[in-house]
Amino acid sequence: GPLTLLGPAPGAPSCPHGPALLFVKTSQGKEEGRRFYACSACRDRKDCNFFQWEDEKVSETRLAAREEYNRNHQPPFTHRQNVDRYKNFILLPLSKRRFCQECQQLLLPAEWEKHLDHQFLCDITTAQLKSPSQLLYPLENKKTNAQYLFADRSCQFLLNLLIDLGFRRVLSVGTPRLHEMIQSRVSQEEEFSVRSLLLDIDFRYSQFYTEDEFCHYNMFNHHFFGGEAARETCRKFLYEENGERVIMVTDPPFGGLVEALASSFKKLMAMWKETEKEGHDNKEMPMFWIFPYFFESRILDFFPSFSMMDYQVDYDNHALYKHGKTGRRQSPVRIFTNLTPSMIVLPEEEGYRFCTVCQRYVSSGNQHCEICNSCTSKDGRRWKHCVLCKKCVKPSWFHCNNCNCCTLQKHSCEKTDIGCFVCGKAGHKRSACPSLS
Ligand code: SAH
Ligand code: ZN
Ligand code: ZN
Ligand code: ZN
Ligand code: ZN
Repeated sequence: GPLTLLGPAPGAPSCPHGPALLFVKTSQGKEEGRRFYACSACRDRKDCNFFQWEDEKVSETRLAAREEYNRNHQPPFTHRQNVDRYKNFILLPLSKRRFCQECQQLLLPAEWEKHLDHQFLCDITTAQLKSPSQLLYPLENKKTNAQYLFADRSCQFLLNLLIDLGFRRVLSVGTPRLHEMIQSRVSQEEEFSVRSLLLDIDFRYSQFYTEDEFCHYNMFNHHFFGGEAARETCRKFLYEENGERVIMVTDPPFGGLVEALASSFKKLMAMWKETEKEGHDNKEMPMFWIFPYFFESRILDFFPSFSMMDYQVDYDNHALYKHGKTGRRQSPVRIFTNLTPSMIVLPEEEGYRFCTVCQRYVSSGNQHCEICNSCTSKDGRRWKHCVLCKKCVKPSWFHCNNCNCCTLQKHSCEKTDIGCFVCGKAGHKRSACPSLS
């Protein structure tokens, strides 16, 4: 059966990615077998094979070996060392600025020798240093850490939206490109007063940002690798001085466990809440959670105050694209937010329009259904209403009297009660989910 996350457990053992998470196999909603700990960040055993039964007795020798293993699997330089290296690097003349593509590392001249048979880039400009997401190659490990970078248009849109909404601080959780866009505008425009703090598990970014700009962070277990000092940096950043309002923007890997993400985001929200005693009352920290539309119900389970916006977030290197009728690529990725939907103004020049009944901007193809009394399309195409299902469904679906619901024309009329972990539908497992391939 599928794995169920029992959550971050107090006293959990640690792997190189911080405290492990507690899981159990379930069948028909019932726990089956022994509970176990596994790595929070890596879905693939090849990337981190940490495993321990919950009730397992671990010997002192094994504990010591594990601690040593965890130490050895930390990055070769500390963040502090990387900051110092950067300071030295920018003092070098262009001709001496090298970046090793194999080690993904800025090189100081004394280190060249060790990297002679590696591929490297020369003449690294200041502009390149200000766009690390272009210099570093996107991590491509499908299960663990696939990095999908925002297309420039989407990133501009997000930033302008935040500014128009009056936010002056952005907690960028797994959004290095948004962070980078903010940082480079800060250095170019005197008037620009937005600040950003990047939280990401990709430690390569510590080569380009100080401890006040980047925290090495695992969003599946809310682990700050930099310990209490990094946690304090984050806390300070969330403290809204001089009325500078904070918003969190996150774009997690889609293969990730929604419940683990939600648990961490709630902790970040709590951190924000604790920074100010009176002001926040019952408010939540404003947040944009960028995720595919087929996760809508999962996200709303954890954050009932959220709603999904129709805006299609575009990426430079995304495998999830389908080509729509118009020839424009259709992205399944949306913005989930706890801000009032009517405040999220979507660009009319890209075809979005305001529905006065729904009080939100919707895709041009998203027709208001009189029966549902809502703009019901999730994927941007025009959906059709099924009177038997009493809801709108995808245009390609038809009502199957056998299954007593709308589904694809081609389907086997078999009932399985185990739904796919990703989309919740029956008939396939998470690994074969059509919405991910
Ligand atoms: N669209 C974003 C990038 C999203 S890709 C942009 O352009 O800025 C997902 C991001 O989450 C990557 O930066 C990746 O390094 C980060 N990430 C993946 N797993 C993570 C984890 N466990 N904790 C924190 N960040 C993680
Ligand atoms: Zn691990
Ligand atoms: Zn409507
Ligand atoms: Zn309808
Ligand atoms: Zn139907």
